[in-house]
Amino acid sequence: MTGVYPVRELKARGFTDARIRKLERSGDLTRLRTGWYAENAADPAVRQAVAAGGVLSCVSALRHHGIWLPPADGRVHVRLPLRDRCDDRSCRGYGQMPPLSGAVDPLLVAYNCAARCLDDEGFVAVSDSILYKTDYGLADLRGAVAAGPRRLMDLLEYCDGRAMSGTESIARVRFRGAGLKVKVQFYIRGVGYVDLLIGDRLIVECDSREFHTSASNYQTDRTRDRKSLADGYITIRVTYEDVMFRWDEVLRDVLVLVKRRAHRGRRLGA
Ligand SMILES: [Zn+2]
Repeated sequence: MTGVYPVRELKARGFTDARIRKLERSGDLTRLRTGWYAENAADPAVRQAVAAGGVLSCVSALRHHGIWLPPADGRVHVRLPLRDRCDDRSCRGYGQMPPLSGAVDPLLVAYNCAARCLDDEGFVAVSDSILYKTDYGLADLRGAVAAGPRRLMDLLEYCDGRAMSGTESIARVRFRGAGLKVKVQFYIRGVGYVDLLIGDRLIVECDSREFHTSASNYQTDRTRDRKSLADGYITIRVTYEDVMFRWDEVLRDVLVLVKRRAHRGRRLGA
């Protein structure tokens, strides 16, 4: 629910013109533009997009759809009608875009727009998140940005729907970019799946805000670390902040371990 409604929807729910005017006077409804109203609890980003004459789109719409996104740029991303496509404020996708409909763009339309606004690793992480969290597959993502530059198709080759968080996606892309061999969601008997495995035995667990906050997760994480250590693995844990804001430091430490060949060879317990 966005809390933003076209007048036809209000009327379909039985609101008369007189009732709408009354709610507007009492401050319970605000007219955003001709034919569009918002209730007080409306999503502020959707409200802003519709008031600007467009729909919530691009990365802002993806966030609305529950997709993981890199740190926000503080802007509400809006798609304006075709006649305003040269307007700097309008995000636009590749190829022919569907006409505006509703208050929030459908996921794949928003994804096509976001392909212009995201950098390469952000695009991979967002694609991973769509594959992980929705029923859309790689073919759907390829189709959505088919009119885009060849680069996008190449980046989609690096996507992995097994990644459980955007933090993990970004870490994977960057480790591989640094020339490291990384396995995704590697299964260890007695431990379960670990996020990333570098070489034979260096585990990197990406503690996302979404999955590692509860007391039971806290305990589970410690048990996993102990069991994997007993089995000869080394675990490092990185947070969202480590990956997004302190990556140089993280990579430096991992490369020190790799230089010592701590990621290689027989596991201590093997
Ligand atoms: Zn955008």
